[in-house]
Amino acid sequence: MSVPIDADCLFCKIVTGDIPATVVRETERTLAFRDINPQAPTHILVIPKAHYPNAATLAAAEPELAGVLLSEAAGAAADEKIADSGYRLIFNTGAGAGQTVFHAHVHLLGGQVFHEGLV
Ligand code: 5GP
Ligand code: ZN
Repeated sequence: MSVPIDADCLFCKIVTGDIPATVVRETERTLAFRDINPQAPTHILVIPKAHYPNAATLAAAEPELAGVLLSEAAGAAADEKIADSGYRLIFNTGAGAGQTVFHAHVHLLGGQVFHEGLV
C-alpha cells in the first residue's frame, strides 16, 4: 500500500527528515515528537507518517491506524511518566478549532494540573 505524502506539508517534512524534530517515539507507521512551542511541561505530537489532513480523514481511511495513534500517545505518556498524574489528548480539527498544521496529529499535554473544563 502506498503511503500518502504531501510535499508541501510541514509534518510530512518532519517524517522524511527534511525538517528536524525531537523524536521521542517511532513506529513503522507513526512518529511522536516534541511540540516546538510547548503549552505544558510535556507537549508531544503523535502523527501518522501517512498524510491525512485531519483526524477525521485518517479515521475514515485507516481506522486501525487512528487507534494506533491513541496507543502511541498512551505509550508516550508512560515514557514521560505522566500516565498516573493524568494527561490530555487533543485533536484540533479544522481552522475554526485552532488547527494550523493540516496533517493529522494528536497533542499529548501533561506534567501539570489541569482544571475542569475544556475551553
Ligand atoms: P494545531 O494547531 O494544528 O493543532 O497544532 C500544530 C502544532 O504544531 C502547534 O502546537 C505548533 O506549535 C506545532 N508546530 C508547528 N511547527 C512546528 C515545527 O516545525 N516543529 C514542531 N516540532 N512543532 C511544530
Ligand atoms: Zn503531511
